[in-house]
Amino acid sequence: MPRHQRTRFKSCTLVPGNRTRVDSPKGAVSITTITRVGWYPMRSSPDDHAVSDARAAMRSTRADLAVTRDTEAGLLRHDLPCGREVAVSDRSAIEWTDATWNPVTGCSKVSPGCAHCYAKAFAERFRGVPGHPYEQGFDLRLWPERLTAPLLWTKPRRVFVNSMSDLFHEGVPDDYVRQVFDVMAAAPQHQFQVLTKRHRRLEALAAQLPWPDNVWMGVSIENDRWVERADALRRVPAAVRFVSAEPLLGPLPSLCLDGLDWLIAGGESGHKRRPTSADWFRDLRDRCSAAGVSFFFKQWGGRYPKAGGRELDGEVWDEYPMPRAELEVPEASEPRFVRAVDGLLPEVDPSLVA
Ligand code: SF4
Repeated sequence: MPRHQRTRFKSCTLVPGNRTRVDSPKGAVSITTITRVGWYPMRSSPDDHAVSDARAAMRSTRADLAVTRDTEAGLLRHDLPCGREVAVSDRSAIEWTDATWNPVTGCSKVSPGCAHCYAKAFAERFRGVPGHPYEQGFDLRLWPERLTAPLLWTKPRRVFVNSMSDLFHEGVPDDYVRQVFDVMAAAPQHQFQVLTKRHRRLEALAAQLPWPDNVWMGVSIENDRWVERADALRRVPAAVRFVSAEPLLGPLPSLCLDGLDWLIAGGESGHKRRPTSADWFRDLRDRCSAAGVSFFFKQWGGRYPKAGGRELDGEVWDEYPMPRAELEVPEASEPRFVRAVDGLLPEVDPSLVA
């Protein structure tokens, strides 16, 4: 039997301090995590011990473990794809970011792009699990204890804010949104990527918020009905404005690229994914190129996020924006884009988030 047909996936979330028994076709694995809940540093962190424990358990039982670290949630998520190699990742699986920070979790659906929200599916798996960060499922929850986490990360990185929520959700108090922005302003070593579908609230609150150069503000647009989100975004004084056209559910002929710096595009993934068209992506890519807007093609989508690969017409499109303030200094002939390719491991894919 081909190796992949024998693969069985099981996953569990390990609560720090608990001993967790996980059964797999190759035997039971018992793992003790000693990581405390909450923020912990990426380097020299106590969760390294947990990874060591997991590896030791793997060796003793001959089970294979893929260990992933969800650092901002203070958790370890262990997937057990039996028969596959061990992989350890402390990076986000989202191609266009380095890390995630969730001072809010939970959300509610607002438009067709939310239909198969991965964050909701992921969170609801843990509804009712005592002590789990998603014990409340996908109900909105504020996490003030996580607010200061980025201040403690010394290594600069791109940080996706609220990969498991929408910061501008109507249930998040104005003052709390302000606190999140204050933290971003106080952590200039990072570039924060905030993405919302609540464009009206974004616009309404914008005047009350600080807009440091390290905040990239984006809106999700899944079809032409919602290009008004980009219009609202244009009225926000962010140093970088971007659109996430993912999951792209139709062409965007009405999308005006004026005032935008970056466009991410991608197809839907999951067993209920909706069809997409290469022409929709080509159209966006070509218009971005003509308008000087950085273009990032995230994925074709498929049964799982990486299934269809990331090439569009034989190329990987990994362009990133440069803050407008930096662009004003050099001559117009200076390179506009930064290309980068991240070798990331498959993990949670909140591509449908916000
Ligand atoms: S896709 Fe975004 S806006 Fe929609 S429910 Fe999920 S987190 Fe909320």
